Amino acid sequence: YRVYITPIQGKGERLQGAVMVLRNVTKLRQLEQMRSEFVANVSHELRTPLTSIKGYVETLLDGAMEDKELSQKFLKIMEAETDRLNRLITDLLFLSRLETGRVEVAKKSIETRQMLDKVVNVLTPVAQRKDIVIKTYIYPQAHTIYGNQDMLEQVLINLLDNAIKYSHDKGSVLVEVSPHEQGTAIKITDQGIGIPADSLPRLFERFYRVDKARSRQVGGTGLGLSIVKHIVERHRGQVQVESEEGKGTTFTVILPNS
Ligand code: ADP
Repeated sequence: YRVYITPIQGKGERLQGAVMVLRNVTKLRQLEQMRSEFVANVSHELRTPLTSIKGYVETLLDGAMEDKELSQKFLKIMEAETDRLNRLITDLLFLSRLETGRVEVAKKSIETRQMLDKVVNVLTPVAQRKDIVIKTYIYPQAHTIYGNQDMLEQVLINLLDNAIKYSHDKGSVLVEVSPHEQGTAIKITDQGIGIPADSLPRLFERFYRVDKARSRQVGGTGLGLSIVKHIVERHRGQVQVESEEGKGTTFTVILPNS
């Protein structure tokens, strides 16, 4: 609580009373705390790849440059770290635009097949590197969905990219679009590493990862699911997750039909 006391002057010098206002600032405090935590998180996330890049630069300058093979290896790592930094900034800017409502969400009817094919095309090279097949199934009653095409493509890319990233080699990923009582359901199912039950409630938080090292290794930013949630909410939809460790994960996005 914040306490404000204002004296009420009586006749002459006499104090007649006082007004005391107790203002509940819990919400405000929470917001302030969230904001400073966010800034701390962002700084940390930006600094990690920079520290790594600087380390490699120093090692190269210290003589590692003489070794052609080693130099090549270090430069590759530096390239990957730079890419991650870039993705991180792109994701952060996109999230901030979503949160402040500065992006327009123009919705229309979308051909499900055309959108799925486009997204699958984008991710096929990534899947092929791990020998993973992407299967799609669209129920006839779900041949169109309603929403913002660019944003829904982003949702599918993020979920599908995760399904691939957190799958074992030679696995398969299924995207299924079906009618649902609240509209249309898009399900992305993998047979990957799964998510521990106690991590599920925090999964959509910015920068939350079950396994930081693994996420970094696969080039993750920790913002993908947070972006998914924001976009789906801007569509008045819902996103759900079911998972079993060692078995696999299913993310379901439910979108209203209008
Ligand atoms: P990241 O960039 O780390 O993948 P996300 O926000 O996309 O960030 O996901 C947050 C975390 O949720 C990931 O780090 C990972 O631990 C977990 N996760 C997301 N999707 C899956 C999945 N399909 N299978 C297993 N774990 C997943």
